[in-house]
Amino acid sequence: MKLPVYLDNHATTPLDPRVVEAMLPYFSDRFGNAASRQHEFGWVAEAGVNVARQRIADLIGAEPSELTFTSGATESINLALKGIAEGLRGRGNHFITAVTEHRAVLDTCRRLEGYGFQVTYLPVDSAGRISLAELEDAITPKTILVSIMAANNEIGTLAPIAEIGRLCSDRGILLHSDATQAVGRIPLDLRNIPVDLVSFTAHKMYGPKGIGVLYIRSRRPPTPVVPQIDGGGHERGLRSGTLNVPAIVGFGEAARISATEMEAEARQVSALRDALVEGLRSRIPGIRVNGDQGNRLPNNASVTFEGTRADRVMMDMKDIAVSSGSACSTGLQEPSHVLRALGLPDQDVRATLRFGLGRFTTAEEITYAVGRIAETIKKERKRMEVEDAVHVH
Ligand SMILES: *Cc1c(COP(=O)(O)O)cnc(C)c1O
Repeated sequence: MKLPVYLDNHATTPLDPRVVEAMLPYFSDRFGNAASRQHEFGWVAEAGVNVARQRIADLIGAEPSELTFTSGATESINLALKGIAEGLRGRGNHFITAVTEHRAVLDTCRRLEGYGFQVTYLPVDSAGRISLAELEDAITPKTILVSIMAANNEIGTLAPIAEIGRLCSDRGILLHSDATQAVGRIPLDLRNIPVDLVSFTAHKMYGPKGIGVLYIRSRRPPTPVVPQIDGGGHERGLRSGTLNVPAIVGFGEAARISATEMEAEARQVSALRDALVEGLRSRIPGIRVNGDQGNRLPNNASVTFEGTRADRVMMDMKDIAVSSGSACSTGLQEPSHVLRALGLPDQDVRATLRFGLGRFTTAEEITYAVGRIAETIKKERKRMEVEDAVHVH
């Protein structure tokens, strides 16, 4: 077993060795520009992109022409929200989203508010679920887009995207979903889910960083997404810039692997996750698991260890890589907005660790992690008791 044990797969996943293997030729012999139409080098690169696009489309039940490559989920989300804001400005100025969304959605919404758009941020219950009745009530004649994530990156709660999609499409409103944590982990067939735009990224599904997709459902008239990056007219004019061919090829291979292995992997990973939680429960009193227990990602466990400080716990066990709050907040140590939204008091927010298991997590690693976490929590609780005593007297 190699240390540290990696249990932070919501932040990023390691590359699958098969993905690396698939990418390598595109860094050397097959270096061509996929937009070069006049020679073999371009054709070879373009063929690699085409295969990858088809594999990613197959994974989510889409057509290849419905996918636009971007630099990642953050860019896809920006393109979806800002592109629709610009494209439907004449029809309305109101967006609906939820308080537990990723910063990429929330900060884009804040930006749009600065441009004069209005945004409703739906609250969630203690398991992280929005209410469909509240969503329905929030819709106004000015509403142009609803954006709800498929799976939460901190607590793993899944949203009923198909139901939300029906609610929106019945009212002629577009639905965007940040499915970054869902794609490749749980089945998602867009033929049966009426969602118009979907964002996701390769590096959360064992592919490389810096490559994402925005899915835009093809319809007549077309969904009016206005490009946010202009230039050579790549990606049907939606996102200019020379394609990152090696990364796209890696994304395609990651999608192929996920499509064939997702089911077995979800069973294996959720069994390990349950073993982790059971192991912790049996050794440590006063712990709580956050999120929707009946309906969450197979690899997620957000655990509150009452009477501890997660930042100190992590410092004390550098051989276990986990996270507190959201790692996407680039090192900012603000209490997680997601855990706060569940109604957790700040001291419990600060006492919470997020475990994200993955394809390469082993039973041996889980056994080791349970032991290390149990001993570290005991030590931390003693320290807190001593500090409290000092403060009281
Ligand atoms: C990681 C993540 C993102 C950002 O993805 P990048 O490709 O790193 O930009 C967005 N949303 C969710 C839910 C995520 O987990």
